[in-house]
Amino acid sequence: MPHDFDHKPTVLVTGGAGYIGSHAVLALEAAGYQAVILDNLEYGHKELAEQHLKAKVIVGDTTDSALLNELFNTYKVAAVMHFAAYIAVGESVTEPAKYYRNNVYGTLNLLEAMVAAEVKRLVFSSTCAIYGPPKVVPIPEDHPQNPISPYATSKLMVEKMLLDFQSAYGLQSVCFRYFNAAGADPQGRLGEDHNPETHLIPLVLFAALGKRESISIFGTDYDTRDGTCIRDYIHVSDLADAHVKGVEYLLNGGQTSFFNLGNGSGFTVKEVIEMARQVTGKEIVAVACDRRPGDPPSLVGTSDRAQQTLGWTPQYPDLERIITHAWQWHQKRHA
Ligand code: UDP
Repeated sequence: MPHDFDHKPTVLVTGGAGYIGSHAVLALEAAGYQAVILDNLEYGHKELAEQHLKAKVIVGDTTDSALLNELFNTYKVAAVMHFAAYIAVGESVTEPAKYYRNNVYGTLNLLEAMVAAEVKRLVFSSTCAIYGPPKVVPIPEDHPQNPISPYATSKLMVEKMLLDFQSAYGLQSVCFRYFNAAGADPQGRLGEDHNPETHLIPLVLFAALGKRESISIFGTDYDTRDGTCIRDYIHVSDLADAHVKGVEYLLNGGQTSFFNLGNGSGFTVKEVIEMARQVTGKEIVAVACDRRPGDPPSLVGTSDRAQQTLGWTPQYPDLERIITHAWQWHQKRHA
């Protein structure tokens, strides 16, 4: 069923000044869509958004109903991409209320405003962390769900709410369960800039830049090929492309669906560090440390469903290019 718009419609992007959200806006605009960003700028970067994106940045929070209602009254929004959320697994364990308020209550608020405004298409950022420790690798979408952190639970709670909102209000959604987002815009306009940074690839590159002395390897006694954890790294521009395809799927009448987004192949922490040494030509000192609590040994997913249903194919599946793009970005950002 073709969608009922003469020209490409407007998409509201919450968290659009953040890492994955900003790349999604870039991809939306490249595909001819208009975007409006809602971001509270707690972690987002307004200057980057304003420099590289056409979208207007509205500063505010998903917990602000009045602002959401005003926004939906002002813009003719056809679909929402919802990235705004807290993402630090460790912090979610010590401050769960913060996570449930922002990630669950904030989303509920957004959904209620959408229903009131009759905006019935949502692309949601979920996570492979909802599966918990894998029973089968690579992980399929119908794997049992057993989140082990409040962060992951908050994302699963939203997935459940979305099923209920579909039944009750006909709100259709696409939930993307990301594996490990990494890399940067191949043209170097946008990239990863978290503060504090906790992710492996940027921290390894900080060591290459001399911003830190070494990289810690969290656990070398896992039952994996070299004793370190295996992850499925997926290029942020490939994630962004999937989001545009998710919007298109919904605009064409697609129903609520859940998709893994990964490359289906895993790399150990040591392999990532070695690849970063090759890409950067720097020595990069690595120090073996204790395991980080809550880290499953291996997380790798199948993304066949997204490939088949959405026609999505990762353009940058190789780790070397992912790290090369991240390196270009960090060199420029920290010059
Ligand atoms: N990791 C590490 N040292 C670091 C940061 C991360 O060894 O300084 C490991 C971490 O234990 C995990 C992998 O790198 O096995 C990826 O971690 P990251 O935080 O990037 O993503 P996550 O898998 O937690 O989403």
